[in-house]
Amino acid sequence: MEKIDLKGLWIKELEKLFGELGEQNYRARQLAKWIYNKGVNNFEVMTDLPLELRKKLSEISFISKIKLVKKKVSSLDGTEKFLFELADGKKIETVLMREKERITVCISTQAGCPLNCKFCATGKSGFERNLSAGEIIDQIIAVKEHLKNEEKITNIVIMGMGEPLLNYNNTIKAIEIMQSQFGFSIPPRKITLSTAGITDAIYKLSDEGLKVKLSISLNSADDRIRTEIMPVNKKYPLSGLLESLRYFSKKNPNPVTFEYVMIKGINDSKEDAKKLVRVITGFPFKINLIPYNPVENCPYEKSDDETMNQFREICLRATPAVTIRKSKGVDIEGACGQLKAKG
Ligand code: SF4
Repeated sequence: MEKIDLKGLWIKELEKLFGELGEQNYRARQLAKWIYNKGVNNFEVMTDLPLELRKKLSEISFISKIKLVKKKVSSLDGTEKFLFELADGKKIETVLMREKERITVCISTQAGCPLNCKFCATGKSGFERNLSAGEIIDQIIAVKEHLKNEEKITNIVIMGMGEPLLNYNNTIKAIEIMQSQFGFSIPPRKITLSTAGITDAIYKLSDEGLKVKLSISLNSADDRIRTEIMPVNKKYPLSGLLESLRYFSKKNPNPVTFEYVMIKGINDSKEDAKKLVRVITGFPFKINLIPYNPVENCPYEKSDDETMNQFREICLRATPAVTIRKSKGVDIEGACGQLKAKG
């Protein structure tokens, strides 16, 4: 019989497994704590489980671990980028960023990405497959091993490789594990899911009853420009996307964040800013302006500082929450849009 990988199984699934073994439900929570909270892979150290049960578990199951292939550290800001290899040889990247007290891990949900946004290195390398919930969570467990004394992960951003809402079930399960006391006890307001705007999945997420911060990779408020740089806009155009966000906001108190990669001469004019201010209405939101980060074989350039500041001034008419984000890890290709799992 093939052994079961326990990493990625959550409480209900573990309870079912223990039920089949004639064990009580509370064993599921004990085991979950070992796997996720303590990051343990070895049944022998799980001393609050009876020896017989540990033996049985090791006969029928195992706890997988993604393999670290390479780690790069930015000499500019200390950002760390990890290249991991999965059991089938596929590769993904994860980024660890430090900003004062805040320690953020940016995780991937797919190997590659099918959406082919024109400013993104991941999109250029094509799509390989969805990650399992275990592989999503394991990035956090693996990165934890690289924290310095006393450091603790405070924030998770689901903004690495892939479109999380195209790997819906595994992403949701991974978020539940992140939030749970048997997982990482990270509060919902510290977990941000970033999507290119898969409208039907945003409705589903709204009704999920799971609290999470939502971030939209917007990059233009004009359908023609957005479709040019984000082909997904053809299937999910702006009007429907904004409608789904109004629905999401009714169910979720946190403002939606719009990420806007500023690309010189493409989406950074005053007209672009005015359109942005005009079309987003009916719910609380923030805007994050991100200077475009260089990507190999990509013709774009970042907007200059003056253009970004002018753009910001116009956005401030719609919301006081407009920031220009400082890119991190640019020298190790660990910044927004630069991940490509090549190390
Ligand atoms: S920006 Fe996000 S959704 Fe677009 S191609 Fe890159 S990883 Fe995929």
